[in-house]
Amino acid sequence: QTIGDFFDAMAERQGLQEALVSRHQNIRLSYAELKREVDRLGSALLRSGLRKGDRVGIWAHNSVEWVLMQLATAKVGLILVNINPAYRTSEVEYALNKVACKALVTMTSFKTSDYLAMLRELAPELNTCAPGELRAARLPDLKLVVHLGEADEPGMLRFSDWIARGSADDPAVAEAAATLHAHEPINIQFTSGTTGFPKGATLTHSNILNNGFFIGEAMKLTAEDRLCIPVPLYHCFGMVLGNLACLTHGATIVYPNDGFDPLLTLECVQDEACTGLHGVPTMFIAMLDHPRFAEFDLSTLRTGIMAGSPCPIEVMKRVVRDMHLSEITIAYGMTETAPVSCQSSTDTPLDKRVSTVGQVQPHLQVKIVDPQSGETVAPGETGELCTKGYSVMHGYWGDAEKTHEAIDAEGWMHTGDLAVMDAEGYVNIVGRIKDMVIRGGENIYPREVEEFLYRHPQVQDVQVVGVPDPKYGEELCAWIIPKAGMSPTDEDIRAFCRGNIAHYKIPRYLRFVSAFPMTITGKVQKFKIRETMQQELG
Ligand code: ATP
Ligand code: MG
Repeated sequence: QTIGDFFDAMAERQGLQEALVSRHQNIRLSYAELKREVDRLGSALLRSGLRKGDRVGIWAHNSVEWVLMQLATAKVGLILVNINPAYRTSEVEYALNKVACKALVTMTSFKTSDYLAMLRELAPELNTCAPGELRAARLPDLKLVVHLGEADEPGMLRFSDWIARGSADDPAVAEAAATLHAHEPINIQFTSGTTGFPKGATLTHSNILNNGFFIGEAMKLTAEDRLCIPVPLYHCFGMVLGNLACLTHGATIVYPNDGFDPLLTLECVQDEACTGLHGVPTMFIAMLDHPRFAEFDLSTLRTGIMAGSPCPIEVMKRVVRDMHLSEITIAYGMTETAPVSCQSSTDTPLDKRVSTVGQVQPHLQVKIVDPQSGETVAPGETGELCTKGYSVMHGYWGDAEKTHEAIDAEGWMHTGDLAVMDAEGYVNIVGRIKDMVIRGGENIYPREVEEFLYRHPQVQDVQVVGVPDPKYGEELCAWIIPKAGMSPTDEDIRAFCRGNIAHYKIPRYLRFVSAFPMTITGKVQKFKIRETMQQELG
């Protein structure tokens, strides 16, 4: 089945049920209303001359229009290109040109960023062209720019005017939908850029629709559920674990805001009586540690997913205890596998649920191999996690070489993550191969040291990296964000470590900071911490 087929059937069944709540836009749509808007937009896309396989970018924060674009492009067979709202001119130029986008939907501004100004800098031709007829030297493929604002902008169309050109009963939409196949690409997502330059993973209907469905199954989502989604839609966490998990189960999608804000998220859960809540670990930490946390009634919460980066056991325990998320699960995956490959379910025993990423998802295969020999390692031993099955991406767009490096001849996606599987199949993510530190011949997994330091009563958040060292090859460095109002010293931390972890795992360098360098998906960019330390240490 395609995404369009699945969604249409759900809309038929769930007509009056609330599909979508966008708090910051003050919009509520039922399944039937959402379907009508999707069909209207699908018609408008076709009437703009876009055809099957054409790439259409979306460069915007969470909004109703984002979901409409997700569903309408899939319905008529266009390939949606998710563009990170944190990108600036050179990155957006790279992304649009890399995949030859013909059209782009963009917001006008956000906080201090002016998106239209960035586009006009790249394509000054917008000032003189008619809408839909752009010919820009630096963006040669881009023809149409649609903006989400209210004002008239030269050379661009307003989203509301654009969608008004479509008809909800346009037979061309059904005709286009009838030509589609579940194994055709419909989405290009750029990876987070945690380890370097983002790569454009090309995904099919089958990749993300099935993944969203099985994620919702593991959470036991039903039409009664209302899922609060503060994670970005441009990333698979929001788009698949959020939107598609809900839409495949007739549940309600709730956006608390365009960007993440701990207070607005807590308020949203309370006011909307949300039963589910997603987040990366740093988001849950920000909510739990918010000074007004105790004021909110979160008793409707049941389930949700923590994912995206290592999920500290302590944070999971607090979320279960203090946020009523008794059925929260951890998911593990990557953009290239649509994304989830391992996940606990609400039935997984609590101790496994807080301490592992669960077991392999139904209909997928996972193996742990020795990165050198490629042989599968014994249970309990560390190796590289590889994934095979329906969720593995089509490939990196326009990069056959990188695709072949990542996916081997037998179809195994090599994730670059180190993991351990126990005899029952529960998987623990140890860290990224790139992050492993080798100090004087000892392998150190930063994750293990981070888990230990989280237990220090004055530590709110911590990141451990390796920095080059002439004597040991690498030395450990910890960046610590202290809890509000606390100022631990080097000696406090070292004393806490001594006798409790091996001497070589005690960080040589400690830095107390107020924030980490982050991707917009809320992931810590360790490579930037390493760069900063290298500069500092010369
Ligand atoms: P890039 O590939 O551009 O460097 P990225 O790998 O962070 O960025 P994503 O595809 O968004 O881009 O993230 C996938 C990665 O996130 C995984 O490979 C893994 O390292 C990490 N990850 C995801 N979920 C978990 C989890 N539950 N526990 C630990 N790590 C996780
Ligand atoms: Mg990656």
